[in-house]
Amino acid sequence: MNDPRMADGRPWTQLYAPGDPTDLVVEHNDALSMFKAAVARAPERAAILYFDGKLTFAELDALSDALASALLEHGVQRGDRVALFLQNIPQFIIGELAAWKLGAIAMPINPMNRERELSILLEDAQPKVIIAQESYYHDVVGKTLATHPVPLRISTSELDFQNRNDPRVLGQSHRQRPEGTWDLLELVERHRGQRPPVVQYAPSDVAMLVYTSGTTGVPKGAMNTHGNVTFTAQVYRDWIGVREGAPILAIAPLFHITGLIGHIALSYLVGGPIILAYRFEPGVMLDAIAEYKPEFTVAAITALIAMMNHPSAKPESMQSFHAIYSGGAPIPPTVVEEFERKFDQYIRNAYGLTETTSPVSVTPRHLRSPVDPVFGALSVGTPTFNTHVRIVDTENGQVLPPGEAGEIVVRGPQVVAGYWNKPEETAKAIREGWFHTGDIGVLNAEGWLFLVDRKKDMINAAGYKVWPREVEDVLYTHPAVREAAVVGVPDPYRGETVKAVISLKPGASVTPEEIIEFCKERMAAYKYPRIVEILPELPKTPTGKILRRELRGGPNKG
Ligand code: AMP
Repeated sequence: MNDPRMADGRPWTQLYAPGDPTDLVVEHNDALSMFKAAVARAPERAAILYFDGKLTFAELDALSDALASALLEHGVQRGDRVALFLQNIPQFIIGELAAWKLGAIAMPINPMNRERELSILLEDAQPKVIIAQESYYHDVVGKTLATHPVPLRISTSELDFQNRNDPRVLGQSHRQRPEGTWDLLELVERHRGQRPPVVQYAPSDVAMLVYTSGTTGVPKGAMNTHGNVTFTAQVYRDWIGVREGAPILAIAPLFHITGLIGHIALSYLVGGPIILAYRFEPGVMLDAIAEYKPEFTVAAITALIAMMNHPSAKPESMQSFHAIYSGGAPIPPTVVEEFERKFDQYIRNAYGLTETTSPVSVTPRHLRSPVDPVFGALSVGTPTFNTHVRIVDTENGQVLPPGEAGEIVVRGPQVVAGYWNKPEETAKAIREGWFHTGDIGVLNAEGWLFLVDRKKDMINAAGYKVWPREVEDVLYTHPAVREAAVVGVPDPYRGETVKAVISLKPGASVTPEEIIEFCKERMAAYKYPRIVEILPELPKTPTGKILRRELRGGPNKG
């Protein structure tokens, strides 16, 4: 009872690994200093491994200095946004560092986004620069920039920085320099040897603008500060015990908060190489593991399942790992068991959001997550260092006792400063320092956290978040569609997949396949409905609101 940890209202700290503090003392003031410290400690150590390509910390420093100098010459200033429309390639990291070397804000964008989606983000953030892959220029980026101009356009190729051209992921790639753009490597060559002036940061300065659909479905830019990033990178290192110099396998996309923190920022902090493989392909990942022997990764469970079931996976395939974590989507306990049987590696669960700069709760490194006897869910761990979590009544906001389900609210150094340009949304989401996650969870008396549901209608397809409203808005632009409702339905591989139920305008006719094709052209591949059902009428409440929930079952077509 006299335990100060209990008095602090954080019973879960008793579950922390022996010797771990309840609170971290953050070592670095800002994310750039964290990188610079690695350069100073180990300039010749590998910083990036990309197929057969390697960049040391000193080379990465020089490349990002040169790019920053080029951006400066083109008028990029402190606080400007630098958009990154890139897969997991070295240029993503060079671009992020170049932005930080000017006091600018890195703005990662999912390169699967199509014209409509990219326009919304460009409109909102008004970046000064976009660094985009050549291969996406013709279809998406160039067209979007015609209506949403960005002053400085830099293109780059995924074929740079390596010579292997692995046909499994780079087979379709060829060089095709788009008109009206600078080539990233050419810019770097022109400015090689130059250094931008030194910038000073306060921890409250914004480091990244990471777009998420948050709790409402409208894309919002979460303002992750330098202080958020240095804290959460250290959470990964100290909670999990990632050693200095440890190689880190980047399975998660770099544009997502998991990749930004659990791969990139962690690699800066521990001065270890990040292993990049363009985009997730299970066989390529398994080869990268065999080649570079990573010690840590964090990935969506579907990626781990795909590697587990790949024909080239062997019992020793995962033996280089000191720890494997998974987050972003629910983890079936049976998968954890199967993975352990096959590879002798226990997957630990981590829960977080873009707005919490990744980690809220993580399974302690010396423990195994319990499974909730009622809901059957694997615990998402215990709230991590410095973090306060409460479960509150969704109606009246009252704090609920252990064991009761309510909305998870979080306070701690990982909570973002707010949403870009959206003071009202910020005020709704962060109240008196408590971030309202929109997730429904239970904290048991010991301090284990369980996720049981989502307050929001969000669909979680293999860790990718799909907002019904956004897909419905596109469906409504089809001339034959009268009403549309989009729901998540269980899917053996993706966890959930996207299903659309529509009714047609009088006299109109369309097939489910045509609707799928229509959506495919207008949205990122993870979002378009895989199943389309056509009904004469959609079920509604007496007030005319479409009953999404009732549509989750029913016959599947398309
Ligand atoms: P994002 O901002 O894209 O990272 O999405 C955050 C959302 O992903 C959370 O609000 C949860 O609904 C879900 N999520 C994150 N981690 C987990 C986890 N370990 N288990 C289940 N769902 C998760």
